[in-house]
Amino acid sequence: MSGVARAGILAGCVAVGVLAGDGARAGERADAVWHPKDPRVGDVAWLHVRNLPEAARVEGSVGGSPLTFFPYAGGHAALVGIDLETEPGARPWGVAVLEGDREPRTARGTVRFAPRRFPVERLTLPRAMVDLDSDTERRALAEAQRLTAVFRTVTVERLWRGRFTRPVGGTVPATGFGARRIINGAPRSPHSGIDYSVPLGTPVVAANTGRVALVAEFFFPGRLVVLDHGLGLYTLYFHLDSVAVSEGERVERGQTLGSVGASGRATGPHLHFGSQVGTARVDPAALLGLALGD
Ligand SMILES: [Zn+2]
Repeated sequence: MSGVARAGILAGCVAVGVLAGDGARAGERADAVWHPKDPRVGDVAWLHVRNLPEAARVEGSVGGSPLTFFPYAGGHAALVGIDLETEPGARPWGVAVLEGDREPRTARGTVRFAPRRFPVERLTLPRAMVDLDSDTERRALAEAQRLTAVFRTVTVERLWRGRFTRPVGGTVPATGFGARRIINGAPRSPHSGIDYSVPLGTPVVAANTGRVALVAEFFFPGRLVVLDHGLGLYTLYFHLDSVAVSEGERVERGQTLGSVGASGRATGPHLHFGSQVGTARVDPAALLGLALGD
């Protein structure tokens, strides 16, 4: 492969793309690899562009959405959040590597977002918690918009390191991600996090290092903490009884954020734990299993 004319040529297959424009340097040939190979709806996936100097600049997109790359393991990586209501199917992706005055190198391909079956949950709640008066409806809408504004803010620094940890101790399994909810007989928005049924007052800890992006008391989530882990990655802790941190504060993995409660719309004490990559609502269990060491 030689010359500028080849740069930008399709070089990808489904899960791996060799970067075109790599010239004769076969020994350090860069490529782009998806983790996992077949990401599912609701996953936190990542794209690894390998064999690149840290100083290289990497740009890219998946399905038209831009990616934010960070130096990682002899290359660069970017998180890809696949929202729980994403249509399964193929998406085009592409990356470009810009390095000083070297000719840009590119790779492209398609990645298939695999479908996932979500459970259907039927709940009965007091009517006052479901059929909102117009003031409450306005309030809930404004609060949702405030959360979205937080998630649209991308901190360019990567704050998390190593594995993500459970936000509550013990081994109680978390349930309910993506559940299609039918409340008092009417379909409502799907459940965007996982719930830990643990006693009132159980300490809630930070899943990883980050900065406290929001402390608030909202209608549905109740008392809440949102952590910014950098690069568009956020974790959410809802229905808290008490909060032990304040906005802007830096927190370490395992640091106490507050305690489990039943504030907001909750049928009893539990922790609702959510995660976002930008505005994509992703499975916190996928985040806890994220194999993106240091
Ligand atoms: Zn929940």
